[in-house]
Amino acid sequence: MIVMKFGGSSVADAGCMREVAALVTQALPRAPLVVLSAAGKSTDALFTMAQQAEAGEVDAALESQRELILRHRQIALDLMPERPMPELENALTMLSGELELLLRGVGLLRELSPRSLDAIASIGERLSTRILAAYLGAQWFDARAVMRTDGAFGCARPLPLELTELVQERLAPKLGAGRAVVTQGYIGATADGLTTTLGRGGSDFSASLFGSVLGAEDIQIWTDVEGVLTCDPRLVPEAQPIAELSFAEAAELAAFGAKVLHPASIQPAVEAGIPVTVRHTRRPQGRFTTITGEVRTGRPITAIATRGPVTVLTVSSARMLNQSGFLAKLFDVFARRGVSVDLIATAEVSVSLTVEADAQLEELLAELAVFATVSVATNRAIVAVVGERLKATPGITGRCFGALRDLNVEMISLGANEINLSLVVRQEDAPTAIRQLHAALIEGGAA
Ligand code: ADP
Ligand code: ASP
Ligand code: MG
Repeated sequence: MIVMKFGGSSVADAGCMREVAALVTQALPRAPLVVLSAAGKSTDALFTMAQQAEAGEVDAALESQRELILRHRQIALDLMPERPMPELENALTMLSGELELLLRGVGLLRELSPRSLDAIASIGERLSTRILAAYLGAQWFDARAVMRTDGAFGCARPLPLELTELVQERLAPKLGAGRAVVTQGYIGATADGLTTTLGRGGSDFSASLFGSVLGAEDIQIWTDVEGVLTCDPRLVPEAQPIAELSFAEAAELAAFGAKVLHPASIQPAVEAGIPVTVRHTRRPQGRFTTITGEVRTGRPITAIATRGPVTVLTVSSARMLNQSGFLAKLFDVFARRGVSVDLIATAEVSVSLTVEADAQLEELLAELAVFATVSVATNRAIVAVVGERLKATPGITGRCFGALRDLNVEMISLGANEINLSLVVRQEDAPTAIRQLHAALIEGGAA
């Protein structure tokens, strides 16, 4: 079997849905499990209406709800103008009613918990999958019946053992050559049946999890670019598709901001040894990326990504000098305060670390102040240069700094896996840094 995941832009309107249906139909002999995102910007729209309801603007929220449902009904009508679809009609009416109830509830209480937001956000994927399944005449499958997660609403973690058992028991028997099963990415449920989500962009993660549990031959991520490119094409129009990418490179790029893949999505595929391909829904014959265990291209630099804003904390202490246990003490504070650290660079008496811009720092800083001086620099961005042979190729670091000579690089970190050289610059300098690095290292031929 194979997994075919289609992102939001691939199911944004009837035209896109037709292309998706054609691709799935061609793949029917390979027993496809189709994993869909919400149509277009539906998840953003659902977040906005939930916030409107929380602010007491229930009329505005319900207006947006009607628009969203109307948009879906219109897609269904464009796709199947002549076919009466009582089952689909019924499903859309039920989802519309559920969304209205949820928004009214949030509006009444003026309270939007992550749990309520997940219930609201789940409507997007449940709508898009209903329409595609009806159009294809395929089986619709509720992912919440198998995607068992913990209760960390908004960013729930799948529970591998339960997930495996449920997928084998409830989903695997439905798959087979000649038929497609259509299910939702992004959503799951707790053991109590409460709806959860895997975090924004989580459909890639769902696809990879399903693929690894089902032993898929291929996990296909269909999107609006011809694979993983050497850089985000919105930042660097010269970015080129990468034919082969290693799991390690892909994981690194995703973690450092290449939105084309969700950061957690590679791991399950790596563990199961299943190749992941990234392809353009509207150009299925075009170029694409295959992500596998190893690449043999021998190129030193594969791609550049950026993530921001982040905050840089520089922790200094004279006591650090010749002291053992200082770093253990430092990281213990971060662990206890639940603040996760991305990059680290150490000097004799100071350590610089990056944390997410929205990390809660007040208590952490108070605790650190007891034994160190901490300076905080906000609005920074990480720029990551990724490549399997980065470290082995002489002169790369020099070329990076040569390319950035007019910018201030505030922190440098060479990843322990030796495939990621990360730099920290001011957030406003990141687009320039990316363009200069791309021009010098990738267009200029180091790759
Ligand atoms: P989907 O809705 O299909 O999941 P996303 O919007 O999540 O699509 O991801 C695709 C987008 O990721 C592209 O349109 C592109 O702008 C962005 N992107 C960022 N970095 C890269 C990269 N290195 N290669 C390709 N696309 C990238
Ligand atoms: N629909 C969700 C989002 O927009 C999940 C996804 O598209 O992957 O974040
Ligand atoms: Mg995505």
